[in-house]
Amino acid sequence: MADKEKEFRILIAMLFEYHISAPHADFYNITPKVCEAIAKSGVENGIVVVYCPHTTAGITINENADPDVVRDLLIGIGKAFPDRPEFRHAEGNSAAHLKASAVGSSATVIVSGGKPILGIWQGIYFCEFDPPRERTFFVKVVKQASV
Ligand code: ZN
Repeated sequence: MADKEKEFRILIAMLFEYHISAPHADFYNITPKVCEAIAKSGVENGIVVVYCPHTTAGITINENADPDVVRDLLIGIGKAFPDRPEFRHAEGNSAAHLKASAVGSSATVIVSGGKPILGIWQGIYFCEFDPPRERTFFVKVVKQASV
């Protein structure tokens, strides 16, 4: 086996599981948890994947400075994906499913110097669209291979 191949096999990938209470429809800032996972992993350079295993919630990156941005996002998403009488899903939460698909279920961020590369105004959010719920999200930290 070539030396390069050996080095690729020593990738470090650590998985962290977090639980949050989501009592109402909101964007919950989980940036501190993502930073905590990176610190615990000891990874200095690589990538971090934040993943939501739910069908009526999602993960997104957006502004963390002015709370009115999250408020406006919630209003806009609510208007873009209203509940409709023609929806057939028996659980009655198709609008929440639509919002979750629109937002997406994960975010990937570059890790540099032991921190996620985020713009000064950016935060990583867990988006709850079908409250109240007890939710889970996963953070996978992958170390950059040295070659
Ligand atoms: Zn449903």
